[in-house]
Amino acid sequence: MDKRDYYEVLGVSKGASKDEIKKAYRKLSKKYHPDINKEADANEKFKEVKEAYEVLSDDQKRAHYDQFGHTDPNQGFGGGGDFGGFGGFEDIFSTFFGGGGSRRRDPNAPRQGADLQYTMTLSFEEAAFGKETEIEIPREENCETCNGTGAKPGTKPVTCKHCSGTGQLNVEQNTPFGRIVNRRTCNYCNGTGKEIKHKCSTCGGTGKVKKRRKISVKIPAGIDDGQQLRVSGQGEPGINGGPAGDLYVVFHIRRHDFFERDGEDVYCEMPITFVQAALGDEVEVPTIHGKVKLKVPAGTQTGTKFRLKGKGIPNVRGYGQGDQHVIIRLITPTKLSDKQKQLLQEFAEVSGDTPRGEEEDSFFSKVKKAFKGE
Ligand SMILES: [Zn+2]
Ligand SMILES: [Zn+2]
Repeated sequence: MDKRDYYEVLGVSKGASKDEIKKAYRKLSKKYHPDINKEADANEKFKEVKEAYEVLSDDQKRAHYDQFGHTDPNQGFGGGGDFGGFGGFEDIFSTFFGGGGSRRRDPNAPRQGADLQYTMTLSFEEAAFGKETEIEIPREENCETCNGTGAKPGTKPVTCKHCSGTGQLNVEQNTPFGRIVNRRTCNYCNGTGKEIKHKCSTCGGTGKVKKRRKISVKIPAGIDDGQQLRVSGQGEPGINGGPAGDLYVVFHIRRHDFFERDGEDVYCEMPITFVQAALGDEVEVPTIHGKVKLKVPAGTQTGTKFRLKGKGIPNVRGYGQGDQHVIIRLITPTKLSDKQKQLLQEFAEVSGDTPRGEEEDSFFSKVKKAFKGE
């Protein structure tokens, strides 16, 4: 008889906490208690729940069950169904199996399909404003010819007679520690528990075909580098009727020549001439929302920061948007005409040795002091 998985019986996940297990047990034992529930199989179910709880609520028994499942590796040693009293045997056994990987799984149990990951590169603007796009992903899908069974239409897979549908074979071995039962994947059915006599010609009996599938993805405005989007149910199909896996789209955002991003805020360096800086001017600054006029006051220094409120990147969850920070860079002219040189020399003569302005005065006086060694 096929025994149901204890976790399945209690309806909890493999990683369930003790509390979750206790809660599930209380609920189910009440539901199936023979005094309350008069259905024909209530008593059977009550016993099943009780047995599952007895094992999963006990750390040692649970660990043992996680590793070996219902198959007791000590059968043939008089161990019976008792989980205690194996002496040192269990330790030896664990080392043989590396402590894991040999846990038995019901090959017919529904399982969730594999998750898929897709990396998408976006431009700076695409990330800022989001877009709807189609992506093409290669994934395995159930073969349509055989509906995923792998058997030629009109035929059915039959239970593997070598492993009785369990997908596992027991091999007895003599070792210096005694005779042990070694379980391995059934090589007749590759662990599926089923034998396909007449294979489907489309998929060669695997029940799966590789397909490229177009999936439409809605990218929210404000997505940032390294963030991911889960597209539910677009991973690989489930096994034995289980749910499909999910598709994770991971975003990579290309750098921009002018803008730099920090979360929702955008930074840029705005070059202006020293004449604009000295006399003041109104300049046009590019933002992702279009050009914005910025008033540069007379006497603006290089490195001065201005903030353009609300001209940044929208919040990915839709809560407002960031600012754009403009950092002024003064450009020193490199190619001067004779006329320009002459004018600058005149300018210097009129100005005296040092430019005027409080900040400069204190700065230049420090320079002078340094020359005098004061
Ligand atoms: Zn088999
Ligand atoms: Zn097929």
